[in-house]
Amino acid sequence: MKVFTSISELQQEIKPLLAQQKSIGFVPTMGALHAGHIALVSRSKQENEVTVCSIFVNPIQFNDKKDLARYPRTLEADISLLEEIDCDILFAPSVEEMYPSSTTPVAAYDFGDMAKVMEGASRPGHFDGVAIVVDKFFDIVTPTRAYFGQKDYQQLAIIQKMVTLSNRAITIVPCSTIRENSGLAMSSRNRLLSKEHLLIAPSIYQLLQEAVVKARLHTVEEVKQWFVTTIGQQPEFKLDYVAIVDASTLTSLNTWEESSQAMICIALYLGNIRLIDNIPIIL
Ligand code: AMP
Repeated sequence: MKVFTSISELQQEIKPLLAQQKSIGFVPTMGALHAGHIALVSRSKQENEVTVCSIFVNPIQFNDKKDLARYPRTLEADISLLEEIDCDILFAPSVEEMYPSSTTPVAAYDFGDMAKVMEGASRPGHFDGVAIVVDKFFDIVTPTRAYFGQKDYQQLAIIQKMVTLSNRAITIVPCSTIRENSGLAMSSRNRLLSKEHLLIAPSIYQLLQEAVVKARLHTVEEVKQWFVTTIGQQPEFKLDYVAIVDASTLTSLNTWEESSQAMICIALYLGNIRLIDNIPIIL
């Protein structure tokens, strides 16, 4: 695997690939890699001639500076994992390389209501930061396809919208959420959980699954209320939001009939670690 930290050196590597019309798969990550990330890289390897993975903890998408400071950074272990699956190129730039101090990153897109709900409401500026960095990566890597996990469902929807708004010829490939055997969605932040919290964390997905069953017999509001009450009974959890939305527009639903594909999306704190997850509702 070739490792680059410099934008211009990476572009020198990519130039001849473009001239040869090689397909390039791109997997942007913030590192502390786990099997969820690796599934994205493997999928890209199957579908493209060259796979580029990036590792960059993007400071401008963190509204909580403590979250940024404690975000796990495990570059050596990440490189070993990527080498094991034969990733072709790793791009791991510094903050200064991505955002030279002489420039101020500016948000270029208006995502409308889609970016104002859920993560957008709880983490002001988050999606502007995500869009700025992904846009920049797309300019640098010029991928044919880019791979994003459904675990970050709203992010995936926003990137899809960004590609449409910018008329880029990049195919966004949604990838299923990879879970631990316990059902817990894999996340780099899981490594920050205490032993006790790691034992309780799998109940997040169990509750989502129960909510799907409840959806067959109850209204949207009743399912939401059930979720809020049930989470409230577990003192370790502090619910940030539970939202029942249409999967393509992310607008909140009042009735199941309003959408052909509803989803439940949640964010909650275990201690001071914020976790998100979601589940599609099949009625
Ligand atoms: P992150 O490093 O958390 O920014 O994630 C990088 C990419 O990996 C994003 O597209 C995430 O949605 C995706 N990802 C993270 N966790 C998982 C998971 N458990 N299953 C599938 N994809 C994931």
